[in-house]
Amino acid sequence: MKKVDYIIVGKGIAGTVMALQLVQQNKTVLVIDENAQSSASKIAAGLVNPIVFKRMVKSWMMDETLPAMMEFYTNCEKLFAAKFFSERRIVKIFAEEQEVNFWNKKRADYHFLSEPLPGKNYINTIETPFGYAFVNNAAHLEVVSFLNHSHNYLQDKCELVNEKFDYNQIKFLDDEVTYKNYRAKKIIFCEGHKAMGNPFFNYAQFKLTKGELLELSIKQMPATNDVLNKNVFLLPHTTNNFTLGATYNWTDLTEEITTDAKNDLLNKLGKIISLPIEVISQRAGIRPAVADRRPLLGLHREHKQLVIFNGLGTKGVLYAPYFAQQLVSFLENKKPLPPEVDVNRFA
Ligand SMILES: Cc1cc2nc3c(=O)[nH]c(=O)nc-3n(C[C@H](O)[C@H](O)[C@H](O)COP(=O)(O)OP(=O)(O)OC[C@H]3O[C@@H](n4cnc5c(N)ncnc54)[C@H](O)[C@@H]3O)c2cc1C
Repeated sequence: MKKVDYIIVGKGIAGTVMALQLVQQNKTVLVIDENAQSSASKIAAGLVNPIVFKRMVKSWMMDETLPAMMEFYTNCEKLFAAKFFSERRIVKIFAEEQEVNFWNKKRADYHFLSEPLPGKNYINTIETPFGYAFVNNAAHLEVVSFLNHSHNYLQDKCELVNEKFDYNQIKFLDDEVTYKNYRAKKIIFCEGHKAMGNPFFNYAQFKLTKGELLELSIKQMPATNDVLNKNVFLLPHTTNNFTLGATYNWTDLTEEITTDAKNDLLNKLGKIISLPIEVISQRAGIRPAVADRRPLLGLHREHKQLVIFNGLGTKGVLYAPYFAQQLVSFLENKKPLPPEVDVNRFA
């Protein structure tokens, strides 16, 4: 029987970041993933917005999660000699005067919000009748590129197995666990929304959210590196190519793309620009969100050999590095987990 420190199930952003952090601590790791084509991480736009526009409050634990995220992806770029992470500005386009006033109030607390600019046009062809302002500390991760580079790096550092994990093959020993011909201290489940089918952690209260995105070509759009936001976001890639997103649906939890979502996104974009648009593709995925909107970390309530790292919801890019660090410190150094994220708040 082959011995490893950890078995990780799932190689989306949660499992990948966890594997990278454990390998950096010289732990031996086996990662099992069934390579689902439509995992949330392969769908995600990869945006990090430190402000929740609806309520104009800072993203939860931003002061901890944002620096950890910046450091982690920047270090990964150095380690893999690749480029997939960038700091971006978000252009908030105001829909009414009230929004401008609310923004001005919040600027006193949040230094990263620029002063509102009254100009009618941010760049010509974009409608800004009530003006606009910038969120200066946003960021973007090209998630698929990060996952691919991580996969190549991890190939040499740990074992990667492409298969569906079979819960019936788990056998519990005193302090360890076996899975097929592997013996490990712990199994860490990073299964995204598929955790709903995990018989061990079905007590966690997920509130999954489907999301859809469009890839667009807008040939007459002037070049910009900024992300536009007004009810939808428009994220520029290479000149003329953009990601438009995203929808939120709590009832249809299929991974199928829908005409309703496409029309909804295009209608909202139509309120910002009126240029000819070509839809290149559409994609849909399920965000592994939790009822109380906090991540899910920690040990199973009875089987201490089983661990969960999930519940990254709409903020996988921002949350994964910081909370993987928290979980590694908990597993390796017995540092207590923040109670708000401990899976046993649902036990
Ligand atoms: C439309 C959309 C847009 C989004 N945009 C953003 C964004 O801009 N910024 C942001 O931060 N977040 C965004 N998100 C959220 C982000 O995608 C998630 O927070 C994140 O990807 C969750 O990662 P995960 O690793 O937990 O789950 P997943 O990405 O779902 O990964 C789970 C992995 O586990 C594997 N797996 C599951 N069960 C098994 C099993 N039994 N055996 C083997 N393998 C298994 C799957 O194959 C998969 O690879 C978006 C999500 C959607 C749907």
